[in-house]
Amino acid sequence: MMCIFCQIVEGEMPSYKVYEDEHTLAFLDIAPIADGHVLLIPKHHEQFVENLTSELYNILFDRLKGLVKPIQAAFDAPASNIGINNGPNAGQIIPHVHIHIIPRPKKAGPTLFSSAGRFKPRSKEYFEEIAEKIRKEIRR
Ligand code: 5GP
Ligand code: ZN
Repeated sequence: MMCIFCQIVEGEMPSYKVYEDEHTLAFLDIAPIADGHVLLIPKHHEQFVENLTSELYNILFDRLKGLVKPIQAAFDAPASNIGINNGPNAGQIIPHVHIHIIPRPKKAGPTLFSSAGRFKPRSKEYFEEIAEKIRKEIRR
């Protein structure tokens, strides 16, 4: 059985995509810790980061490098929390490698990895607007 992120890759599950290429996909987290919370994944299914081939690992982290600035710029953020929950005991819920990229806007001030408010309901329009802000910065 395919995992949820594999289903997103296959287009069987909807998502708000911000970036895609042959090997990777970046889309909005459905329960964002902050506006612009993106998940970057390899399209190939692997649960643990240490099990990725070095080639795919390098591609994934190269894409991370390319996405950080546009994601931050879209939300006037001088910083971001970037993290991987690598295994269930570390809070990994979806068993498919994903990198969380969470922009931290200037107005918020110094922030820890806080998740207050992440489960409030958000509209389709909210996600479309957030995704487009990031896509616009990537296109720059
Ligand atoms: P983990 O705890 O595994 O590192 O994080 C999984 C993340 O995936 C969570 O932040 C959660 O909000 C997000 N998530 C779970 N299911 C879906 C989904 O169906 N679509 C999207 N876009 N994000 C999801
Ligand atoms: Zn998967």
